[in-house]
Amino acid sequence: MVDSHSHSKLSHDGKVKMEELRNRAEELGMTYFAITEHLDRDYKFGVKEKFVRQLNLPKYKLVYKFLKEKYKQSPMYFAFGVEAGFCPKAVPIYERELKHYNFDVIINSIHTVDGGDAYFSSFFRNKNQVDVYNRYLELLIESLDVPYPYNLIGHIGYITRYAPYENPSLWQPEYQEKIDILLKKIIEKDKTIEINTHIRDNTLQFLPEIPILQRYYDLGGRKIVFSSDAHRLEEVGSRYDLVLEEMKKIGFTHWTVYKKQQPFEVPFE
Ligand SMILES: [Zn+2]
Ligand SMILES: [Zn+2]
Repeated sequence: MVDSHSHSKLSHDGKVKMEELRNRAEELGMTYFAITEHLDRDYKFGVKEKFVRQLNLPKYKLVYKFLKEKYKQSPMYFAFGVEAGFCPKAVPIYERELKHYNFDVIINSIHTVDGGDAYFSSFFRNKNQVDVYNRYLELLIESLDVPYPYNLIGHIGYITRYAPYENPSLWQPEYQEKIDILLKKIIEKDKTIEINTHIRDNTLQFLPEIPILQRYYDLGGRKIVFSSDAHRLEEVGSRYDLVLEEMKKIGFTHWTVYKKQQPFEVPFE
């Protein structure tokens, strides 16, 4: 069992101490667990919905290093990661900051679209679904070209998580062309897609949606990883068995995890 994405109290929306999260992962028998606090420099550029407390990177590193040392005998690899929220204007900040930290894994995520946070229903007010989704996909494609290092593509389909539309799915003919461009580019750049289970909707259990993952597989994509995106203790490893079964059905045989930015395959069996 592996989990590539989690947040402690150091992130603005985390609820538990990093040590508790880490220990919970070990209790579950994980061989790899990554702490990936939010680096939301995108919120510095006019996101109106919410004030977001910014991550203190030096403090984060200190807490992580303390725990890494304290549990150095543990067989579980405890990875030092970060989730960098992409927006075009934040790129130079990430370029400057990320190189000073020896991260195991960096998640390239999108939470904001042109200065709005897709977490809030107000974001969708007076917006047409086709326009919003296409813009989101455009940004996702653009985010793959950032000059700073990254390994995972965070929660593809985030825009659908809280969307109020009758059919919130991203797997519709209107978006097919852009989804294909996105998936081909991910494969070409040899990046990994995370399967993210931090979702409240009962109809969708994880992101990306299965048909998108099937398409990725059919195009030749083989790099995926499980991500609970836990913000609470009980969320660590959440829906792992379900995701594993679904990924096997598609044909995937292993997870890809990162240590010091290098990919390692973890077979399902
Ligand atoms: Zn995220
Ligand atoms: Zn996250």
